[in-house]
Amino acid sequence: MKFNKKICLGIESTAHTFGVGIVDFEGKVYSIVNDIYVPEKGGLHPVQVKEQHVNHFYEVIEKALSEANFSIRDIDLIAFSQSPGLGPVLKIGALVARMISQILKIPIVGVNHCVAHIEIGRLMCNVEDPLTLYVSGGNTIVSAFESSRYQIFGETLDLPIGNMIDSFARDAGLSHPGGPKIEKLALTSTKYLSLPYVVKGMDLSFSGLYTAAKKLIESKDFGVKYSLNDVSNSVQETCFAMLTEVTERALAHTEKTEVLLTGGVAANKRLQEMIEYISNEHNAKFAAVPLKFAGDNGAMIGWTGILRYKLEGGHEISETNIKPKERMDQITIPWRS
Ligand code: AMP
Ligand code: MG
Repeated sequence: MKFNKKICLGIESTAHTFGVGIVDFEGKVYSIVNDIYVPEKGGLHPVQVKEQHVNHFYEVIEKALSEANFSIRDIDLIAFSQSPGLGPVLKIGALVARMISQILKIPIVGVNHCVAHIEIGRLMCNVEDPLTLYVSGGNTIVSAFESSRYQIFGETLDLPIGNMIDSFARDAGLSHPGGPKIEKLALTSTKYLSLPYVVKGMDLSFSGLYTAAKKLIESKDFGVKYSLNDVSNSVQETCFAMLTEVTERALAHTEKTEVLLTGGVAANKRLQEMIEYISNEHNAKFAAVPLKFAGDNGAMIGWTGILRYKLEGGHEISETNIKPKERMDQITIPWRS
């Protein structure tokens, strides 16, 4: 079946998720399929994640096409996550995208993953020019559009927020991903134990907080004077207050009238509540990206690929090298300029 609208197949492959999303040039999403690597213990090992993606990419693509009711021949454009992320993992998405592009003779566009989180949020939440707090397993960024770019106003200096919460949860014996479990435990506690609150200028540091929280659950007082619920509550209150402080300052500085919360940690109701509160204080509209689009997915890559393609056309194959360290403020955003 050849469809009357142009279709893009987007591939996400920066970290744990190999995701495929099928999107048309007007922003309608037809399917989202993810295969997510879950470490048995410890963090993400790039070689193991790469192996998982190599073993599963084909079935993810097939499933996404079949759910969307398209054949691979219906695809007009291929987009892939070109940056930032784990090198060996980025390479798999890039290789698959280049293969499809060359076999089908269709254009290819490389996409910055962080920009894609913002663009899918703008699309899904119907916001135009938001201040964005992007909080996930691998990123912690406060950003807004200014001078042709998504400028970074604040970011983590060490651990990403999701990674810090997951690491703490793992130390406490909880399975991956720890974020939702810590949220649930924290709900039943109102006790606050003091933890390091580190905001430097507009940037954040979570490593001291992590070490202190770990010490609390290793202490002889653990289970006597306070519970895991209390430590979970204290971790959340501290790190979310840090995020809220930086987001509020960026909001006051940029005078944006919309605030967008995205990334996997955006699912957290307590964080949503805090960011919504400061948004209201500044008369800004608050929106949290729906969960399906907040975590890593191929639809955000597809949609951002479409935006760039419409303005600049496709990339040459020689321009499709992965860029594991590329920051989103290094690239221009022609569709918003
Ligand atoms: P992502 O990297 O965007 O795919 O998001 C995954 C991260 O989101 C992991 O670190 C999860 O622990 C975290 N996460 C998911 N749900 C929640 C939640 N309810 N509260 C806090 N963190 C969460
Ligand atoms: Mg992400």
